[in-house]
Amino acid sequence: MSPIQAAPQNNDSAAQRPAEREFDPQRIKALNEKYRPLTPEQRITELYRDFEPSQVMLTSSFAATSAFLLHVFSRTAPHQRVFFIDTGYHFPQTLEYKRKLTELYHLDVVDIRAEDWKHEFTLKDETWKKDPDFCCSINKVEPIYALKQNYEVWASGLMRWQTEHRATLDVFEARNGIIKFYPLIDITREQRDAYIAEHQLPFHPLVAVGYSSIGCTHCTVPGKDRSGRWNNSPKTECGLHL
Ligand code: SF4
Repeated sequence: MSPIQAAPQNNDSAAQRPAEREFDPQRIKALNEKYRPLTPEQRITELYRDFEPSQVMLTSSFAATSAFLLHVFSRTAPHQRVFFIDTGYHFPQTLEYKRKLTELYHLDVVDIRAEDWKHEFTLKDETWKKDPDFCCSINKVEPIYALKQNYEVWASGLMRWQTEHRATLDVFEARNGIIKFYPLIDITREQRDAYIAEHQLPFHPLVAVGYSSIGCTHCTVPGKDRSGRWNNSPKTECGLHL
């Protein structure tokens, strides 16, 4: 048993978690039929008509092209708070990019992170080398799990072309006790690039040196699309969206 599992502070294990909320599949189907023909801006506008604004949670990784989603939200729903998962392993350039976008788009950004003792465990254990799923679970999935209990909808910037899993997604899905909302899901890479060029959005500084997808320092190398993430490993997702 690992120190994490044995430690008495671990009071949020799966066995102790409350039962996850369930959502009517017919409601999700109707939402998808309504939102599918809309643009990302229209989808975000409609979201606040169909849901209480206080029930909407937005996350951003402030990664390669996060400016796209943040720019759309800042123009369409400037009141929306943005949560950033601070794994403690980000590139300094990511933190600088976050500061820049926050200032540029007047964002209300709140950092969330793992409990200190859990993060420290992964640091000493170098968990990302031996069990990256466990490391992501501690530093990304658990902090979000605690947060999402307070919300009904979770908005994020996933696009279908990014991974095989994402290629299967619709605008809405009910997953793990929350309604996921992907306003950019059907945006192609070309459309994304055109939007970025048209609005002169700043790229993450590491894009200029060959990074296309940017996560933690330990698990990111330069590469096309998401090939630089968990390089030499079958892992393609951190688990947040699975
Ligand atoms: S991406 Fe790597 S370092 Fe970051 S939380 Fe996951 S396994 Fe750990």
